[in-house]
Amino acid sequence: MQPLAAPPDYAILGSVTEQSAVPRVLVIGAGIGGMQAALDIANAGHQVTLLERLPSIGGRMAQLSETFPTLDCAQCILTPRTVEVGHHPNIRLLTYSEVEGIAGDAGDFRVRIRRHAPFVDWEMCTGCGLCEEKCPARVPASFERDTGDRKAIYRLSPQAVPNKPVIDRENCIFFQRGKCRACERFCPVGAIAFDQEETLIEEQAGAIIVATGFDLYDLACMPEYGGGRVLDVMDALAFERLLSASGPTAGKVQRPSDGAVPREVVFIQCAGSRSPEIHKSYCSKICCMVTAKQAILYRHRVRDGQAYVFYIDIRAAGKRYDEFSQRAMEEDEVIYLRGKVSRVFRQGDRVMVWGADTLSGQPVRIAADLVVVAPALVPRPSTQALADGLALASDKDGWLLPVDPVLRPIETARPGIFLAGSVTGPMDIPETVAHASGAAARALGLLAEWQQPSARTASPGVLTPS
Ligand SMILES: Cc1cc2nc3c(=O)[nH]c(=O)nc-3n(C[C@H](O)[C@H](O)[C@H](O)COP(=O)(O)OP(=O)(O)OC[C@H]3O[C@@H](n4cnc5c(N)ncnc54)[C@H](O)[C@@H]3O)c2cc1C
Repeated sequence: MQPLAAPPDYAILGSVTEQSAVPRVLVIGAGIGGMQAALDIANAGHQVTLLERLPSIGGRMAQLSETFPTLDCAQCILTPRTVEVGHHPNIRLLTYSEVEGIAGDAGDFRVRIRRHAPFVDWEMCTGCGLCEEKCPARVPASFERDTGDRKAIYRLSPQAVPNKPVIDRENCIFFQRGKCRACERFCPVGAIAFDQEETLIEEQAGAIIVATGFDLYDLACMPEYGGGRVLDVMDALAFERLLSASGPTAGKVQRPSDGAVPREVVFIQCAGSRSPEIHKSYCSKICCMVTAKQAILYRHRVRDGQAYVFYIDIRAAGKRYDEFSQRAMEEDEVIYLRGKVSRVFRQGDRVMVWGADTLSGQPVRIAADLVVVAPALVPRPSTQALADGLALASDKDGWLLPVDPVLRPIETARPGIFLAGSVTGPMDIPETVAHASGAAARALGLLAEWQQPSARTASPGVLTPS
């Protein structure tokens, strides 16, 4: 019988074990997935470079209020992790940074990284927040999904790690008009550095983990739900910010148009998901749970409020997830309407939601105070450029593809590059954490292999040609 040949994509590792591989892992993206992978590797005694595009870490989880199914305060369970990452001696944290180019192969990747200029000397800055307080320029905050403002000099949130501000050049009065410098005047340690420039640095890594997460399908792409132009219609992440104690309303549910407490709220699931003709064909997997959570939390905040949920069917397939949706219906008296919404439009100070209840066969028309749409989860646009640069495969929707979705859901076809979390498709936090730990284990396996070639395992991820 012919011996099975190692697939050609692994052949390259043969030479790597013979040279001295770089015992460092680069993790791209510092959401909960990237942070988990970085901590697992760092706690195993290896060096990690953790790269994040934004000024601080935490990803989408940092924007959440409470998390299903336990209703833990998201910030309370996330902060110990972000702090651990920020202080870990084995983690080199590079925020406000992006990959510019990558060369080399497993064992010896050379990565060019663009470090954006925060225009603040982070070594000197104490994070006192006085600059933000004194800055006169206010702009809508994308971290708040435009439900709140920030200043031109800002941190993403009060719990930001690192707790250092950046100046948004496009909205800074000094950068645009040549005068102001209020932040500089009031900074007690002289940390403002308007002349700072972005830098290019090079890092070496033996393995890479890509954990760049997901985005939300834009409401503007869905005219049936108002196309993002109807007042008091928001997406689920914006509603998270309204529910969040650290959000712009300190957790008080208020509608954007007039600050009134909404008495009737309509939640719309499957917005843009499971819609092969017009939008995305796939199920976004977490929306049933996100909506149940948000309807429960709304009912906890507004005891006399009524919540309605339009759904196609309930897909709550995690441990205790079905019980959680049942709880929304039974304990918190959320009214679930099986059917699709056909139109959302403004009438006076209400938002009209027209749809059909497919169980009773009756049309449904609700005059709501607020409408919360749970849009499809989609890959971040920047992930495609990264995938092209790394020569990684993606599916027709742009999610990154593992080499084998059934038995090797973490490895890519490129040796030494692994995937972690929702960059591969919609995932909740527990699944992201488990997936990321898997990626860390794979990377650690490679490092061990290179350090001790005799301890080679039978894993296909570390095969070398005989
Ligand atoms: C409205 C809403 C509510 C939710 N509620 C819950 C809940 O209650 N419970 C639950 O389990 N799950 C919930 N989720 C899902 C949860 O948010 C995800 O499971 C989790 O955020 C996935 O983490 P991640 O690290 O894979 O991705 P992300 O959180 O998206 O993190 C990715 C990180 O990578 C960074 N990045 C992106 N591109 C680059 C790049 N090119 N270079 C460097 N960095 C980059 C991003 O800035 C980000 O920090 C909710 C999701 C939504 C939308």
